[in-house]
Amino acid sequence: MLERLNLQQSDIDALRARPIPAQHLWIDGRACAAADGATMPVASPIDGACLGHIPLAGEADVARATAAARRAFDSGVWSRSAPVFRKRVLLRLADLIEAEAPALTVLGVRDNGTEFAMALKAEAGSAVASLRYYAEAIDKTGGQIAPSDPARLALIHREPVGVVGAITPWNFPLMIGAWKIAPALAAGNTVVMKPPETASLSTLRLVELAHEAGLPPGVLNVVTGPGQITGRALALSMDVDVLVFTGAGGTGRKLLEYAAQSNLKRVYLELGGKSANVVFDDAPDLAVAAQAAAAAIFRNAGQVCVAGSRLLVQRKIADAFTEALTRAAEALRVGDPLDLSHDIGAVHGPERLASNLAMVDAARAEGARLITGGTALHQASGGSYMAPTVLADVAAHHRLFQTEVFGPVLAVTAFDTEAEAVALANDSALALAAGVWTGSLSRAHRMVQAVRAGVVHVNCYGGTDLTVPMGGQKQSGNGYDRSLLALEKFTNHKTAWIQL
Ligand code: NAD
Repeated sequence: MLERLNLQQSDIDALRARPIPAQHLWIDGRACAAADGATMPVASPIDGACLGHIPLAGEADVARATAAARRAFDSGVWSRSAPVFRKRVLLRLADLIEAEAPALTVLGVRDNGTEFAMALKAEAGSAVASLRYYAEAIDKTGGQIAPSDPARLALIHREPVGVVGAITPWNFPLMIGAWKIAPALAAGNTVVMKPPETASLSTLRLVELAHEAGLPPGVLNVVTGPGQITGRALALSMDVDVLVFTGAGGTGRKLLEYAAQSNLKRVYLELGGKSANVVFDDAPDLAVAAQAAAAAIFRNAGQVCVAGSRLLVQRKIADAFTEALTRAAEALRVGDPLDLSHDIGAVHGPERLASNLAMVDAARAEGARLITGGTALHQASGGSYMAPTVLADVAAHHRLFQTEVFGPVLAVTAFDTEAEAVALANDSALALAAGVWTGSLSRAHRMVQAVRAGVVHVNCYGGTDLTVPMGGQKQSGNGYDRSLLALEKFTNHKTAWIQL
């Protein structure tokens, strides 16, 4: 349906001109302020303008939210309701999001800077799809009767776990938020969500719509504020049974510590990537591969966890391929993400822009060769923009090869043999995604087996679907979002022995 909207620039301009309403925490079905009235400003990466203020929830507010979630869970109003009831509410929520997808997308883009076309599909579109997928799944999945001793009946019940804490990142807050809350709520849990402090607005609208859809009070609560205050309090809560997180590896480590310091809650982490996109000289269409390699790193200004940020290219074609890729990079129009003539939007704020540029300087100091980009753009706008950047001659020991930039910066490394390509691809502590371009079916299968990653694309890169899991290997994470597997995070299996 979203594809058929055919939005014009004037529609987007009208939505952008809408004032942003005052923002509230959502606790126990009610909009409220932080107990001490604290707030924090929100700046747009598009032009640096202040979009308003969000509440800064402290420990007391988080405690109120987790207590509300616990009460709602224990009451059974949601956790013991018929699956078909939960399904109806979640489907209504999906319809409400779909009905205001353009407005919700513009609000989110003002907050995080993603190019509008991508955000419409990836944010509102994915949220709708996730809610429908898990709503439809939940009255079709059940427990089991075990093939056990016939004198006794062994039942395996599926139960919701309890209170879920969900902490989300700014690059796709609505999509990733929905990947957490849709299966959690469908399975009967209650949730306290902490969206990213620099991109909370779309989540705060989502929780309003959830209540409009008929979600009982206390079932979905949202607390906003900085990670070190609000997120930390949620992760340390004795009332949270499962913590689901997407974000940086360093934060993930802290969450494991908080779980150890509190109630040993289950912690599921979806973390960063430094994904290798491997191009062999027998790739069927090098022009297509070059375009795709540019899209793999530069869409959303490189702020995509599965971005193909390391390009490994066979030496024989390395120069020609890098040239084609550079042409594709230089053709991308970077600028205001709400201007439909732009392909790539903003970097998420001045600190991220500075750290991207510092990474380029560090790479050059280590001997990498700057091919294109490496500069800030549109500085007079007050926003944060960066030219798509390609660096060649990046060696495996360079920082740029090993560290996630999370910006529009591509590291290019040449290789000679398939074995060398595998070794380079796997020479990373991170293992989220990979790409392989080859005309050989056997080589494609060998590479899929040999490369450590949660997903390997062959002769394509990116594209997502709810039917398949998404999760990292090594230090890229320990859980799965999407697919029926995600329900497992939010489900306990309880055995009952019945003597016959
Ligand atoms: P981040 O870890 O800085 O922040 C993510 C969330 O954690 C935010 O809500 C933040 O407020 C919160 N947080 C920060 N410190 C905290 C603390 N001490 N206690 C509790 N909560 C805390 O990450 P980010 O900059 O928002 O996101 C970028 C990272 O996320 C990148 O590494 C990217 O690759 C990764 N990411 C991974 C996936 C995936 O599916 N694997 C998807 C998107 C982004």
